Amino acid sequence: MIYLDHTATAPVCDEAKKALIAALDIFGNPSSLHRLGIDAQLLVSKARQSIANAIKADEDSIYFTSCATESNNTAIFGVASALGKRKKRIVISGIEHPSALECALRLEAEGFEVVKILPDENGEISAKTVFDAVDEKTLLVSMMLVNNETGYILPVSKAFSMIKKRYPDVVTHCDAVQGFLKIPFTVKNLCADLISVSGHKVMAPKGVGALYIKKGTRINPFIVGGGQEKNMRSGTENVTLISAFGAAVDFLAPAVKERLQKTEETKAYLLQKLENVNGAYAHSFSESSPYIVSITAENIKSETLLHYLESKEIYVSSGSACSKGKKSSVLAAFHYTDRELDSTIRVSLCADTTKEDIDTFIAELENAISSLCKIR
Ligand code: PMP
Repeated sequence: MIYLDHTATAPVCDEAKKALIAALDIFGNPSSLHRLGIDAQLLVSKARQSIANAIKADEDSIYFTSCATESNNTAIFGVASALGKRKKRIVISGIEHPSALECALRLEAEGFEVVKILPDENGEISAKTVFDAVDEKTLLVSMMLVNNETGYILPVSKAFSMIKKRYPDVVTHCDAVQGFLKIPFTVKNLCADLISVSGHKVMAPKGVGALYIKKGTRINPFIVGGGQEKNMRSGTENVTLISAFGAAVDFLAPAVKERLQKTEETKAYLLQKLENVNGAYAHSFSESSPYIVSITAENIKSETLLHYLESKEIYVSSGSACSKGKKSSVLAAFHYTDRELDSTIRVSLCADTTKEDIDTFIAELENAISSLCKIR
């Protein structure tokens, strides 16, 4: 099997599996005051420390959630709830994951003014364009670090630092799901008040995420109840998944640069091989993550190609896994033509993807091009 869909989800690493199984026996409720509760609380704290260390944050600014979708909802609705009485403008990139964009659209329907920043004719978003959209009435700017469909890296650090200098009260949120433990960043250099990350993209199981909240940020909780996570996210902590998340982060964090370099080499190899394939090409951006490659195979519907490759035990994605076969409005925003929207796949690598994997993928892509029927 050749798995080239790491952006959709990653396999669970052994370290996370071990931590998960061990945590099942630490069954106390982290809120209980007795020893069993404290043991569970210690596991949660250990994982919190791991995630904090990975982005150079204070431990007490990391809040566990059930996934990055919840982190994004908490960030956007939480800030709107805290500041929405006085300020009404939200600036957001138009290529966000639906878990961020849909929140903004719901707020727009409720009377907020939402300014969507779309890529320019080169498929890029400049920091200045984002900065220029912000004004005194802006409460929140939300911008992802790495686009999950194309791999394009947005100028988050530059835009947020410009914004913070001029408008220190504007809250900055970054959905860093596809950058976390892949593209090195710290809370300081990102200049973000809020950062969303997800466990299952970094070799932890599904169902756990985190939100970094800089101390002093004006935000209300999204889920209320028993007051866990310092009142920011009620609900008994998912100790097992949180523990597995921490273990996966401990496994990946020391090797981020090395894994990035390996993946850059693999991507360069893939692009070089692709140049010799008639009828297929990769989309390129000035700044992009080596972990994601957007490839158009002319005249083959992406789903047809996906299933052809699947029959050869090669797993890729058409657009993003979340869009489930619908034409991607994100790729359209990147100015993909109608035909490209129909015939683009996302190949997403990891540091363990080998040149042999790429050779097999390229060979099967060529077979697909020569054997599959035309779109029209
Ligand atoms: N943001 C981005 C950029 C993503 O790629 C994803 C997952 N596809 C999410 C948010 C949502 O993450 P989760 O699956 O943890 O809810």
